[in-house]
Amino acid sequence: TMRDIKKVTLPCGLPVPALGQGTWNMGESAGSAAAEVRALQRGIELGMTLIDTAEMYADGGSEKVVGKAIAGRRDNVFLVSKVLPSNASRRGTIAACEASLRRLGVEQLDLYLLHWRGRYALAETIEAFETLIRDGKIRQWGVSNFDTDDMEELRELAGGDRVQTNQVLYNLSRRGIEYDLLPWSIEHGVPVMAYSPIEQGRLLLQASVMDVARRHCATPAQIALAWVMRNPGVIAIPKTGSIAHLEENRASLDIELDAVDFEALERAFATPKRKRPLEML
Ligand code: NDP
Repeated sequence: TMRDIKKVTLPCGLPVPALGQGTWNMGESAGSAAAEVRALQRGIELGMTLIDTAEMYADGGSEKVVGKAIAGRRDNVFLVSKVLPSNASRRGTIAACEASLRRLGVEQLDLYLLHWRGRYALAETIEAFETLIRDGKIRQWGVSNFDTDDMEELRELAGGDRVQTNQVLYNLSRRGIEYDLLPWSIEHGVPVMAYSPIEQGRLLLQASVMDVARRHCATPAQIALAWVMRNPGVIAIPKTGSIAHLEENRASLDIELDAVDFEALERAFATPKRKRPLEML
């Protein structure tokens, strides 16, 4: 009796699952690749069809694992990859995208993100993204690790209002975006894609998270994910190479946190009261 997957609607009107799958550290070793492929495939079966990868991860190895996992199921997947800032020139972005498509074994990405800001002008990267859309190589584009001032600057540029998401660090122990970036994102209808939603595992041994988990007969990972997804404009992309963890993470959508939980978590991880620069991992 698992609930249908919750959706978040992108500015372009496309609904995507609020719970997707990360792939950082996948494809690092031949020994674990088969398990990673199986976990990703189980996630697709369970509706976690948004898969996030990047040319950076394992130097393309993560994209190759994703390519194996989605072979024959491309149409069921919302595929996200990212261009490194060092490649994000007008021509470099296009070459990087073509290389990602080859590793993934697909004709088109659903969403292509600038991984973080680098030396190339944003206008140049946007131009390349728009060319990729015209050529059918990507459907939409977005950004990652952009703070509020970066988003403001982006929106001022020609075509900048076509940004579909901003992928940033967000979890119980990293609440900085709640001060300004998250309200900005909600106001402008740009969903936040929360990366490292369980803080790479570091949240799982926190007493407050364990206490709330006990109240729900749930696990700390499930509480951390349910908390991140409590906001309708937030997508979470936990990474796991384990089917057991994958199924556990999927079930986080069945958890309904209540006022007592929120108070306990607020005591342990307070709402930010002033601006903090965006943190990155
Ligand atoms: P996560 O917070 O998703 O944590 C992943 C770690 O937690 C892995 O070690 C995983 O191990 C473990 N884990 C997952 N589920 C469970 C569970 N239910 N119980 C116990 N352990 C669990 O960290 P990530 O940094 O991987 O972030 C998620 C994704 O976000 C990345 O994979 C990547 O796609 C993206 N990202 C983007 C960044 C950017 O700059 N744009 C930066 C960082 C991440 P196991 O595999 O053994 O389950």
